[in-house]
Amino acid sequence: MRRKLAAGNWKMNGTLTRVTEVMALCAAHQAPSVDVLICPPATLIPALATATTDHAVAIGGQDCHAAVSGAHTGDISAHMLADAGATHVIIGHSERRADRGETSADVHAKALAAHTATLTAVICIGETLAQREAGETLDVVGTQLRDSTPDSATGENTVIAYEPVWAIGTGKVPTLEQIGEVHAALRIALTNRFGADANAFRILYGGSVKASNAAEIFAVPDVDGALVGGASLTAEDFSPIITALENA
Ligand code: PEP
Repeated sequence: MRRKLAAGNWKMNGTLTRVTEVMALCAAHQAPSVDVLICPPATLIPALATATTDHAVAIGGQDCHAAVSGAHTGDISAHMLADAGATHVIIGHSERRADRGETSADVHAKALAAHTATLTAVICIGETLAQREAGETLDVVGTQLRDSTPDSATGENTVIAYEPVWAIGTGKVPTLEQIGEVHAALRIALTNRFGADANAFRILYGGSVKASNAAEIFAVPDVDGALVGGASLTAEDFSPIITALENA
């Protein structure tokens, strides 16, 4: 059985005052039956990692450099994230693929760095609206999955997040059939590559998940949780999503 995962991506939001939100989340979910992860801006990782030490909320980064150290002004390595208290790192989010031109080869290198630093890589893939409308979704996500995921990936050190680009931050959500079709295809692709070990990989859905739609999305086969942006910023919004996942 895969343990489900509710992951929050705070993006470029939050200052130290947000520690109270995470503490409220910890208080509301003291022994959750699912994994809970918050990925705040890197500036908050040490404070949140310390504050959550005795709680069931893990802390992750939102990106890492592929190198361990070096002349890369403004970047942070996977090793540094781990040193700051992170256990996970999001890699290949569509905002980075779009804003920073990150390719799947870049994502692959970053995932390797994450594994070397003993971080769990949350590898994001997803099609644009134009690609979906052109009927290319399964090809696009299949290629991204293949090219972004290193051979060192296991269900322990890697999570796949299917995030249709057009659903992120837009309030638009694919139909449950569309979500199910992609997750089933991803599971098959993982099985073809990793054999029986593929069963251990968690595949998250991401894109405008909120309390009102979480339960129906979590009921879709092969949806092992969610990567949540906007609705992860407050305990009030994220807590019911965690509860919906526990009840799925
Ligand atoms: C995301 O940023 O990964 C995301 C899914 O955002 P939102 O939930 O706000 O659509």
